[in-house]
Amino acid sequence: MDCIFCKIVNGEIPSKKVYEDEHVLAFHDINPIAPVHVLTIPKKHISSVLDIKEEDKELIGHLHLAVQKVAKEMGVDETGFRLIANTGKHGQQTVFHLHYHVIGGRQLEWKA
Ligand code: AMP
Repeated sequence: MDCIFCKIVNGEIPSKKVYEDEHVLAFHDINPIAPVHVLTIPKKHISSVLDIKEEDKELIGHLHLAVQKVAKEMGVDETGFRLIANTGKHGQQTVFHLHYHVIGGRQLEWKA
């Protein structure tokens, strides 16, 4: 499958890792929009939020616990951060492998 994030998981494309376990990988976004911009992904290929299945429920919970670890590792657990899963065309999703943007390190504003 020609998926850039699967290639990162497999080590075919390098990444700056922040956190890794058996099921999850977190790495710095190549084009950060804030001082902290980390992508947290399941190693399993799931295209988007809309493709999460019943069988993935435990994995998705695990992914959220990994986000907590990423936030602590990046020092934004006290100050807060934004967790974003861009989904589909209007969501401007560009990589179709489920990922959460962990964005912080400065005061964010809300604009859509
Ligand atoms: P989205 O637009 O929500 O699908 O997010 C995809 C994100 O992946 C963007 O913020 C890109 O900057 C980021 N990205 C694309 N390729 C890489 C890569 N090789 N390493 C790290 N981040 C990447």
